[in-house]
Amino acid sequence: MTRITADVSFLRGYNQALVMAVGRRVGTFERSTVVDATGLTPQAVSKVIARLTADGLIRSAGVRRPTVGKPAVVYELIPESRYAIGAHVARRTLRLVLVDLAGTVHHSAVSPLAADFTPEHLLHALKAGIDAITGGNDLRGRLTGVGLGMIGPLDHEHGLVRDAHGLRHWHDVPLREVAESYLGLPVHLDKDVTAGITAEAWRHGGAFGDAALIMVESGIGGGFWLGGAAHRGAHTNAGEFGHTVVDLDGPLCVCRRHGCLEIVHNRAAEAGDISRAARVLAVGVVNLLQTLDLAHVVLAGADLLRHGDTYLAAVERAVHADGRRGDWLATDVSLSSLGADAIAAGAAMQVLDEHYGIPDLAPL
Ligand SMILES: [Zn+2]
Repeated sequence: MTRITADVSFLRGYNQALVMAVGRRVGTFERSTVVDATGLTPQAVSKVIARLTADGLIRSAGVRRPTVGKPAVVYELIPESRYAIGAHVARRTLRLVLVDLAGTVHHSAVSPLAADFTPEHLLHALKAGIDAITGGNDLRGRLTGVGLGMIGPLDHEHGLVRDAHGLRHWHDVPLREVAESYLGLPVHLDKDVTAGITAEAWRHGGAFGDAALIMVESGIGGGFWLGGAAHRGAHTNAGEFGHTVVDLDGPLCVCRRHGCLEIVHNRAAEAGDISRAARVLAVGVVNLLQTLDLAHVVLAGADLLRHGDTYLAAVERAVHADGRRGDWLATDVSLSSLGADAIAAGAAMQVLDEHYGIPDLAPL
């Protein structure tokens, strides 16, 4: 839910964050737009607008002259005034993107990570990648921070990667803290799928209902958007969707249980039977809908997007056919609107949200 952290104080207060949230949501606005959306007084809004203009975050974009009433100054967000770097840390690759204040992705690059990479290896790769993106220009001064979307299990609250599946060197690693000190920038650490669903929520705007992002990339995870915000759970480790059991006598999984969705899916995919793999995933998605009653299911991840049409068709078929009342329980199924950039872009958007946003502001 709304997190008014110390970061917001750098914008000198909650009111400024509110005005920025309106600006990021609508692009151009007038003083009255902000008054209506926030309940702040016109005087308070004028003060905030003056400060944000002086800080270079918004600018005047002309004057609107209504037939009745006084002319009104129109303001607009300056997207290029601030940026964030987003990183998608997968088992074999590191994807980095540069995202501006309006959520536009400007740069995307993938580099390989060594099998079973260490925390040190990841830090070096992050630094080299960030230097490559920001080198040779003055971006560094406009960088708000770095968002890391990482493989779990992961403790978002304490910034710890806890025994990431399939990576031996990642036992309770305080990644947020060491990355902040190594990179010299604020770092936001979250599970890959939670970053991904944040990106989808940005893209859809205020009308985005309860949703899940299902990612297939080496493993399977699920990121959740519930009640207008990312849902992380009691220990901030929600999303281990791939480790829900679908076959009691199934094969042994990396999590040491038998018959998890992930291992049953991966066996089919490794045997080249993508159609069966997609049907296995679809069973998991319907289980999720029965549990959570979601409005949107977004499919993502490199392994899934490589066969996007097959997965989309299988999940749609299962969602709409498996004895569910489609007239009543409508669920929209789609492929990620940001493709392979979804996780990294969402990680960057989380940084921007933390600094400049009141994410659950009412729709405008
Ligand atoms: Zn498992």
